[in-house]
Amino acid sequence: MSRVWLSSPHMGGKEKEYVTEAFDTNWVAPLGPNVDQFEQQLSDFVGVKAAAALSSGTSALHLALILLGVKTDDVVLCQSFTFAASAFPIRYCGAAPVFIDSEKDTWNIDPELLEKAIQDCISKGKKPAAMIVVHLYGMPAKMNEVLEIAKKYEVPVIEDAAEALGSTYFGKACGGFGEIGILSFNGNKIITTSGGGALVSNNEEWVKKARFYSTQSKEPAPFYLHNELGYNYRMSNICAGIGRGQMEVLPLRVDKRRENFERYRAAFAPFEGISFLAEPEGFFSNRWLTTIVFDENIYASGTNEKIRVELEKHNIETRPLWKPLHQQPVFAEFTSYNNGVSDKLFANGLCLPSGSNITDEALNNVIEAIKNNL
Ligand SMILES: *Cc1c(COP(=O)(O)O)cnc(C)c1O
Repeated sequence: MSRVWLSSPHMGGKEKEYVTEAFDTNWVAPLGPNVDQFEQQLSDFVGVKAAAALSSGTSALHLALILLGVKTDDVVLCQSFTFAASAFPIRYCGAAPVFIDSEKDTWNIDPELLEKAIQDCISKGKKPAAMIVVHLYGMPAKMNEVLEIAKKYEVPVIEDAAEALGSTYFGKACGGFGEIGILSFNGNKIITTSGGGALVSNNEEWVKKARFYSTQSKEPAPFYLHNELGYNYRMSNICAGIGRGQMEVLPLRVDKRRENFERYRAAFAPFEGISFLAEPEGFFSNRWLTTIVFDENIYASGTNEKIRVELEKHNIETRPLWKPLHQQPVFAEFTSYNNGVSDKLFANGLCLPSGSNITDEALNNVIEAIKNNL
């Protein structure tokens, strides 16, 4: 039986054409029409003034922090329940992350803990230089509450929308709420450029500056002149060709991922103690990954891991939820504000195969395999 993946690349058809166009016109590197087109599609879709196509979501986060002036020994607040790449760039800048736990409704940054952390930082004379808010698994964070706090204390918001392209919050696209938003087109995301990312913003100067930094900060001179540190973070015209084709099918990808979610939810609705992340009123998730949580009062602890191991025997890939960053050895020395929510989710949850190219048969097999091992 062929392997059932958590989330694998799903081409739409036009990608090859755009890549071939790049070959035929010798726009193989570095920039070119595919990059311009892809950036236009991204800014239109997210509803922001401009986008810079970059080599990864991680590099986009790094440049976002640089644009906001984050430097050595600054403090940057970051959601704890996320992929480590949300926080690594804080360390690239020599700054210190302060991790904030999640609230129960969306599994994203808890506004109460966020405000408490800001107040504590200020009372220690160290106002945070920025905050990184994540829309985990595609579920929008409580942006109204977050933005109100950000405004009150004047802390700029970086929205990590790496998992949330296609998600909306009260009708507006995720990625467009913060001072800066970042996207990822890594191979496992809802659309992919084989590897890539983007920085989006309503501040066109910042986006221009991101393009400048990402191409080694080359000043306009006949020789190589550099007044500032540069980075090699730009997306190639080949990768952007894939991105162009992927953007054309993004709405279909969101529909299919949401359908996967509904199938799983319906299949386990009769099971007491199995739950799924619901959408609060006004929240629309792209359902990048469907996640399942086993209630610890009904299922033995370790049920998630038992199911993972059993499904692996059927060549089905599942994965534990993100291990919170406050539990990661690499971040052990940093402060965190915890409430137990992400620890509990990590202990009891599992990500299920959620690709937009999963077949009905494979999806049914996953459901049956879980039921047979409960
Ligand atoms: C994937 C991901 C990133 C990093 O994106 P890359 O393109 O892989 O560098 C950052 N944050 C979150 C939440 C992600 O899921």
